[in-house]
Amino acid sequence: MNPWQDILKFAGLQADFEIIDIKQFRKLKKLEFYLNRTDDSGSCYQCGQRSSCIHSKDKIRLKDLSCFEYEVELIFDRYTLYCSKCRGYRVENFWLLRKGKGFTWRYEKHISRLCEETTNAAVGRLERLNDKTVYNIDFELLNLRLTHQPPPEDLGPDYSMDEIHWRTKKGKHPKFITNLVDLTHRKVVTNAPGRDQESARNCLLWLSKEQREEMKSIAVDLHDSYIAAVKQECKKALIVLDRFHVMKLFNESMNEFRKDQLKLATDSDEIQLLKGRNKWILLSRPENLSKTGKILLEELKGLNERVLEALLIKEQLVAFFDEQDSKEAKKQWIKFHELVVQADIKAFNSFLIRMQKWIPYLFNYFQSRISSGVIEAINHKIKTVRAMAYGYRNEFYYQLKILQRVGFLNSRFWDLPKIQGLYP
Ligand SMILES: [Zn+2]
Repeated sequence: MNPWQDILKFAGLQADFEIIDIKQFRKLKKLEFYLNRTDDSGSCYQCGQRSSCIHSKDKIRLKDLSCFEYEVELIFDRYTLYCSKCRGYRVENFWLLRKGKGFTWRYEKHISRLCEETTNAAVGRLERLNDKTVYNIDFELLNLRLTHQPPPEDLGPDYSMDEIHWRTKKGKHPKFITNLVDLTHRKVVTNAPGRDQESARNCLLWLSKEQREEMKSIAVDLHDSYIAAVKQECKKALIVLDRFHVMKLFNESMNEFRKDQLKLATDSDEIQLLKGRNKWILLSRPENLSKTGKILLEELKGLNERVLEALLIKEQLVAFFDEQDSKEAKKQWIKFHELVVQADIKAFNSFLIRMQKWIPYLFNYFQSRISSGVIEAINHKIKTVRAMAYGYRNEFYYQLKILQRVGFLNSRFWDLPKIQGLYP
């Protein structure tokens, strides 16, 4: 009995191999396993037909999962067989690896698993692989998941659709990705390039017909194209303009207001406080400001009366969203409207004009209180993932990464099969 055979048992290779030799490289921290195939037959790559007519054998070397702090390499023969069905010589299909790969299938799965948690560069450092190799494995396995993984069950009935910036090339229009979020699971279920009606439709059509019919509500960004797509594909869904998107737009106006005030300012302290690097003083919720932030805000209020008015308007908008009852909310909105008209601040006037056509959807918020926290948290997480990777050059890869990190396209929801075989 071969004393090494037990090692093969631990490695799950006992059925197919015998160990001829193990070489240990102490300095390199590497083990090489030289293996002998116990079976003199294999199955055709193309049709799966078994054949024992071996035409030739090629030595292959595969990186496998490491053990005892050692990198592990398996060295064994791969057969080329004569297939009677295909009437020709074919490379065999062997469960341990995918065609043309220098890694075992389980090692590829391990890399993909690591990529779910950290950046490709970090995985490369941990596993002594170059970034490009990690990228290739991650990309390919995500693609396999996308085509083989069953869709998640019991989605809905509340969703949200939102755009996320992908990148802006010099001198070109910025590019976006549209994400569809399931608000119950708090996950991105699918996404599509762009942010037009077609992008939105592509996302909605990913859902089954039943899921689209059962959609109760959907929170959208302020885009005509999104609303048109929802009306087209999910006729019963209540379209909601939620707090997060409206506040985002309002904060943009607040920032415009700050810039306008900066142009008018003459006092040097006031100029300092209104500069871009201090814009957070006006954009944060006052109660969330740090002690220093609060002091700076008070100082600015003392120097600029318009700031005082602007903050009052913002408070009123917050009060509107905090309202529980739809009737009361309408009253708060009228108050908000009046305040804006009285103050006559250019940036807020245009905010009000822009909001005018969305008002029915805005009041829907009080019928279906969609949690804006979810949308905000997901967008934040996507941005963090992108920043950690220093951006993504390939748009489709970026889409897959979103689904992997804040969606269902990962091992928590579905394990890739143990045995390679289904996959090219
Ligand atoms: Zn065949």
